[in-house]
Amino acid sequence: MKKQDIKDIKQLLSTPKNIVIVPHKNPDGDAIGSTLGLYHYLIKTKHNAQVITPNDYPKFLKWMPAENSILRYDSQTKECNNLVNKADIIFTLDFNAFHRTGPMESVLSESEGLKIMIDHHQAPDDYATYMFSDVNMSSTCEMIYHFINMLGDIDLIDADVSTCLYAGIMTDTGSFRFSSTTSTTHKIVADLIERGANNSQIHNNVYDTNSLNRLQLLGTALENLKVIAESRAAYITLSQEELNKNNYTKGDTEGVVNYGLSLEGIILAAIFIEDKQEGIIKISLRSKGNFSVNEMSRAHFNGGGHTNAAGGKSYLSLKDTVEKFISILPYYNNALNNE
Ligand code: 5GP
Ligand code: MN
Repeated sequence: MKKQDIKDIKQLLSTPKNIVIVPHKNPDGDAIGSTLGLYHYLIKTKHNAQVITPNDYPKFLKWMPAENSILRYDSQTKECNNLVNKADIIFTLDFNAFHRTGPMESVLSESEGLKIMIDHHQAPDDYATYMFSDVNMSSTCEMIYHFINMLGDIDLIDADVSTCLYAGIMTDTGSFRFSSTTSTTHKIVADLIERGANNSQIHNNVYDTNSLNRLQLLGTALENLKVIAESRAAYITLSQEELNKNNYTKGDTEGVVNYGLSLEGIILAAIFIEDKQEGIIKISLRSKGNFSVNEMSRAHFNGGGHTNAAGGKSYLSLKDTVEKFISILPYYNNALNNE
């Protein structure tokens, strides 16, 4: 972020403002952690701040400090529209195109509040007055740490801010193991622990709160795991029937795609999840090295994301979506086998 931008934002935040903070639809740990982390900082600096999520998020995120203050656009639309329309500033975190907020797309595009984007995805849209966009960052939470630091307020990072930011860095880095994790990430995480993040408790809250249904759904997913050796690819399918049988709730399939990637020699992993209600197949793609699933998703699956983690969707049936995936793989065989 430019020095002048930081100066301008510091000036802007020097008097109390009405502020709305928004993450992407189906928010993950980084989205909830970054919005709440920033929220605690803004409340401490005397702003009237409110986090609004486009829709619901998994139970394993519903423990963060002030999580119960979050408003949900899909179920509290009128109140949320009022807040967005009267906001002086709208922070958009962990996404970079309004369509990623689903039901909030139109109210955000029509809103007059000044937009500040903080995000680490590729190819940002041009809607924000101030943009802190960096694809090399492990997580938006790491960027919120830098942002508060750049504003000269590192000492306002208290236990609440630290807890939220730690949770988001942890989830977006696969517990500090993805290649986006740098020595700076570790230094920040160490500082967050010193400032009051209880690392062991946070791991427990996120990862050790499984239901029996969720683990049994994982069992089904692993039974469905297929390998396409010549493309160094693996994929998993979950039909709506399989989800129903295991009493699927939001978040139950989070991280399942990574099992494909954990197979020896596999460079590309996919999961295809049927969503009869939305009439789509939700797709998650993961890769190792330089193979870009962001490009693959943009080209074939109406989505995008990062080089090694992207999402998308398909309007074909589950079977046809898998067939499409298999049929495009040969075009990538060279790239996949050169990794
Ligand atoms: P996931 O597979 O966990 O849903 O998403 C992986 C990554 O890609 C996340 O960083 C997520 O924000 C991003 N992502 C997921 N779906 C989309 C999409 O439709 N478009 C774009 N641009 N990014 C996506
Ligand atoms: Mn993120």
